[in-house]
Amino acid sequence: MAADLHTHTTASDGRLSPDELIRLARARGLTAIGVTDHDTVAGLDEALAAGKCYGVTVVPGVELSTEWEDREIHILGYYLEWQEENLLAFLETMRRARYRRITRMVSRLRELGYDITLGEVEGEVRGEAVGRPHIAAALVRRGYAPSVEVAFKSLLARGRPAYVPRAKVEPARAVEVILKAGGVPVLAHPGLSRADALIPALVESGLQGVEVYYPVHDAAATGRYLELASRYELVVTGGSDFHGIIDAGHADLGTCRVGPVELEYLLRRAEKIKAQATKV
Ligand SMILES: [Zn+2]
Ligand SMILES: [Zn+2]
Repeated sequence: MAADLHTHTTASDGRLSPDELIRLARARGLTAIGVTDHDTVAGLDEALAAGKCYGVTVVPGVELSTEWEDREIHILGYYLEWQEENLLAFLETMRRARYRRITRMVSRLRELGYDITLGEVEGEVRGEAVGRPHIAAALVRRGYAPSVEVAFKSLLARGRPAYVPRAKVEPARAVEVILKAGGVPVLAHPGLSRADALIPALVESGLQGVEVYYPVHDAAATGRYLELASRYELVVTGGSDFHGIIDAGHADLGTCRVGPVELEYLLRRAEKIKAQATKV
């Protein structure tokens, strides 16, 4: 029994469709998998159907992007009711804000004399949500920059001329939205986000878990988060953050796993949250 609780599909920026991902999970000997696309639940129906078909337990999830002290903080939500109204409205607001930001960045570029259109930027999208990488790709295609990296460094990064900040979502707000949808809010890769100082406040807001096992967490970090989990009575999760590509920044499926005990605790926590939600 082994579960990888952090993966992405083509519903966000992963390379494999939900069906392909679940098939690979079975081939890798995983008995359970958490599907946690960025700011969308669009892949969950297909993932759950594939899970039934291939005999893999699919834990429905999401990974919400938030900001704290100029850092990107990701909040995972597990076993949430992904058709819940409030959650869908929240995701729609995020989607619109992201689109508005990209529109503003494109008009800023045009003011600066770069002849690119929103249509060209959208043409670079391959299933995932439109973002700065697509503007960069459009600039490269037009010959305005030799590479995506250069486009970021010269124009699109924070402090550069075409930069527009993203709409801010507080981590506590993401925790609240997940709880309201009956899900278990879990702080993703705190080691990567350098988010240790945020943990006590998030626990106050209702955080229920911490992603202890993660590719870039070394033994010391893993130990520290295990300790924090027990201090704050948080469930322990782990996953590879598999995106369908394996390179320096991306681990392979099943690299970080949890066993039946952690999965059982996660499920029990979800049941408790749902029971409390129906009481109020
Ligand atoms: Zn993340
Ligand atoms: Zn992720």
